[in-house]
Amino acid sequence: MDCVFCKIAKKEIPAELAMETESLMAFKDIRPSAPVHYLVIPKEHIQSIAHLEGNHKELLAGLIYAAKDLAAKFDLKGYKLVFNVGREGGQVIDHLHLHLLGGWPQP
Ligand code: 5GP
Ligand code: ZN
Repeated sequence: MDCVFCKIAKKEIPAELAMETESLMAFKDIRPSAPVHYLVIPKEHIQSIAHLEGNHKELLAGLIYAAKDLAAKFDLKGYKLVFNVGREGGQVIDHLHLHLLGGWPQP
C-alpha cells in the first residue's frame, strides 16, 4: 500500500520522531501550522476516525495520552488536538493521525 505514514511507521522514509511505542509514534509535521505541530499516528494502518472498529478503543486512547504527554514534554500551556476526517473534513493523508498544535504566545 502506498501510504506515506505507513512508510514513516516502518522507517522507510525519515521523520523527526518525538516518541515511539510498540503501537504508535509521534513526529513533527513537515509543514507546521503552529509553532509546535506534531502528528501522533497508530503504526497500524487505519484510514480515519470513521474507520475505527470496536477493538480500537485502547489504541485511540493511546494516541490522546501520547499527545498529552508530548504537550507536557514541550511545556505547552494550552494546545489543540485535531482529527481531520475525510476530504470534506480537511483530511489529506488517509492514515489516522492526531494533530498536536500549540506554542502560540499567550493572548
Ligand atoms: P491532514 O490534512 O491529512 O489532517 O494532515 C496531514 C498532515 O501531514 C499535514 O499537516 C502535512 O503537513 C503532514 N504531512 C504530509 N506529508 C508528510 C510527510 O511526509 N512527513 C511529515 N512529517 N508530515 C507530513
Ligand atoms: Zn498507512
